[in-house]
Amino acid sequence: MLKGHVMIFSEQEVLDLYHRNPEELCRQAEVLCRNTYGNKVYLRGLIEFSNYCVMDCLYCGIRKSHSAVKRYRLDHEMIMAIVRKGYEAGLRTFVLQGGEDPWYDEAYLCRLLENIKSLTRDQCAITLSCGIRPRHEYRAMKQAGADRYLMRFETADPELHQYLRGGVTLKQRLQALDDLKASGFEIGSGFMTGLPDEKPDSLIKNVSLCKELELDMVGIGPFIPHKATPLAGAKQKPLSEALYAVAMVRLLLPLANIPATTAMGTLEPDGRERALECGANVLMPNITPAEFKKEYLLYPDKICLEESGFECIGCLSLRCRGVNRELSFEIGHSQSFMNKGVYYADKKS
Ligand code: SAH
Repeated sequence: MLKGHVMIFSEQEVLDLYHRNPEELCRQAEVLCRNTYGNKVYLRGLIEFSNYCVMDCLYCGIRKSHSAVKRYRLDHEMIMAIVRKGYEAGLRTFVLQGGEDPWYDEAYLCRLLENIKSLTRDQCAITLSCGIRPRHEYRAMKQAGADRYLMRFETADPELHQYLRGGVTLKQRLQALDDLKASGFEIGSGFMTGLPDEKPDSLIKNVSLCKELELDMVGIGPFIPHKATPLAGAKQKPLSEALYAVAMVRLLLPLANIPATTAMGTLEPDGRERALECGANVLMPNITPAEFKKEYLLYPDKICLEESGFECIGCLSLRCRGVNRELSFEIGHSQSFMNKGVYYADKKS
């Protein structure tokens, strides 16, 4: 169905297309992505600021029980130095990601956020991705200058979620996303594809939940088994499932920002380019200093561990050109967040 200049697909239409002609699904998703974002691919500088985590998620290489991990925390000065360098290189969004690490308390994070905002003269967006925290902290962090928050729901299957996440329920994760929304954040969530013990309808349930949550950003990555976790023996599922998930989400949420994720590039050398051809429009070079990023191994064989993220920007630019796209150094807010109200009001009419 065509509404204004935006094509709106129903969940049933997306599901039918996926079963009938997945190549056409991807083609339509790319068309829709270009309608919204042209040929631009937004850049985000990813800073993995801590690999300490109080959680024990069965899939994750930095889970609490993995005692062989060399743990690190980047302090205020180190993070500011990375942001300064990133800002000088032209980056206008910084993503601060870490394990769930209460060592960074509300006051510490707020001071950091304020200082990043003032260093970058309010010209940058800051995205946080550090898991579930109390609601009042989200409010304080928003006030201190954070713009966006990423927290994948990981799987929409409630039993599987609870099993994989050490007893933390899907309901708790969704409550945290609600708290973030109420605090005014631009919201990102998403899931892994190919988790062990998924049901046949898991993929569509995951995609539908993204739609139901009206996400501004959707991160999707293939699950990659890590040897030192309880899921070591799980079978690696193909990248295609993650690519089709990107395409389906693009059709349901035409205005969302969707990254071509590092896990995709880890599973297949051209995984990120292929995601761009299925409706993704964001790339996230990892600007964590090399000595630390090699200790942030959520999954094995992560790419670009030797390079600095700044060298990666040149490589990503070439990769984009290879699929007829251009890197953009703009702040790159999600169109859905900018248009909220307008777009969703239109949809309901
Ligand atoms: N502590 C934060 C950040 C988590 S790490 C939070 O709770 O949101 C970022 C993402 O990496 C996770 O949300 C998960 O989807 C992904 N991830 C973790 N282990 C993985 C694995 N083995 N394979 C692929 N992706 C993984």
